Amino acid sequence: MKEVAIVGGGILGLAIGYELSKSSSKYKISIFEKESALGRHQSGNNSGVLHCGLYYKPGSLKAQLALEGIKQMISFCQVNNIDHEVCGKIVVASDEREIKLLDDLAMRGNLNGLSGLKFLTNQELKIREPNVKAIKALLVPEEGIVSYKQVMEAMANYIKSDNGEIFINNKVLGLSKFSENSTLLKTEKFEKTYDLIINCTGLFSDRTFTSLTKQKSPIKILPFRGEYMHIADEYKQIVNHLIYPVPDPQYPFLGVHFTRMVNGGREVGPNAVLALKREGYRNTDFSLIDAIDALTYNGFLRFLSNNFKFAIGEFASSLSTKAFVNKAKKLIPEVEDYMFTKGGTAGVRAQAISPQGEILMDFNIIKENNQIHVLNAPSPGATASLSIAKYIIQNYI
Ligand SMILES: Cc1cc2nc3c(=O)[nH]c(=O)nc-3n(C[C@H](O)[C@H](O)[C@H](O)COP(=O)(O)OP(=O)(O)OC[C@H]3O[C@@H](n4cnc5c(N)ncnc54)[C@H](O)[C@@H]3O)c2cc1C
Repeated sequence: MKEVAIVGGGILGLAIGYELSKSSSKYKISIFEKESALGRHQSGNNSGVLHCGLYYKPGSLKAQLALEGIKQMISFCQVNNIDHEVCGKIVVASDEREIKLLDDLAMRGNLNGLSGLKFLTNQELKIREPNVKAIKALLVPEEGIVSYKQVMEAMANYIKSDNGEIFINNKVLGLSKFSENSTLLKTEKFEKTYDLIINCTGLFSDRTFTSLTKQKSPIKILPFRGEYMHIADEYKQIVNHLIYPVPDPQYPFLGVHFTRMVNGGREVGPNAVLALKREGYRNTDFSLIDAIDALTYNGFLRFLSNNFKFAIGEFASSLSTKAFVNKAKKLIPEVEDYMFTKGGTAGVRAQAISPQGEILMDFNIIKENNQIHVLNAPSPGATASLSIAKYIIQNYI
């Protein structure tokens, strides 16, 4: 029997535990989560969208795993009776410059192997989305929505029913002893030897890498908060589908969009605000450790100097409702402040930055002796969680 410790009880840790359990009876899975429940961070605070691979560079791991991942996730939902719906998405070009970017996106989607991509005529758009303003609109029929909370619950139940253990309120602190094939893992509550350790700690993947390997991490995580506003029920008919702007290809963020939720609600967001705390869900949250950590990293300073205008624009949309609503108005000019309920939700993205200040767009997974580290798993990491898990099992275990 191989003892496997998975650090981090988000959707990735759970998907890897689930797939490993399923793959062979020779693995005994233990998942460690520092919070009092699973999925409290990125996996429980995202848009709930099933992405099918439209945006990602052809040949990249993201493109491959998003395409496989959405199929695997939909089939997982069908088997486990999880709320989901393939409702399709429309990506909207709002000016001449965006038409070219939208054409490029459609080409990318075709190269990545998506089916059914289609530019809508004005009439077709009006029938589907009477309130959306576009000069060109691309229908992406394969995308959808899902409850990732239910997905995580089903994965956790499977792991437990297969003799796995899930430890909540139990933070992994590092290693007590180290050899090439076995590792004495130190947690808040106990120490135990494991044959394999898998780091899936999202916003802390770089720090966990250092605490487990005693080496400097090759990347640094920068937290980007994404804030949402909820459309009051009486106005929710203003949008039927998922409506997205054409994203700026320089960034991995998709821009403020309208999302239909599986519970029937509608949300707008998220923006992408550089957060002053890794798990900072409010714009007043601040951590001295996280701020010093970022400010002493050359990659962060380079990133900021190259992306200052972007960072300020997103910061403004966090401070001012008007600036936030203006982003939404680009897609649906009729939306107004009063249509939103107060106190929207937020999620914080873990985004890896290189020492050169570049945003790492692709998933990043490395192996060090008997440890596997998922260093960068931003969106569509939830959609692709099962395919990422299978990829790790096939290539690293
Ligand atoms: C605002 C936002 C919108 C998004 N929208 C989408 C979307 O629509 N579709 C999509 O596919 N993806 C989306 N994503 C991306 C997706 O949510 C992530 O790719 C995915 O959730 C990553 O999962 P994870 O398990 O790696 O990270 P997390 O969910 O962050 O899990 C990491 C876990 O590790 C725990 N942890 C950290 N350190 C320790 C330690 N030392 N010991 C024990 N536990 C520890 C944390 O508490 C946490 O629970 C979005 C993300 C955000 C933030």
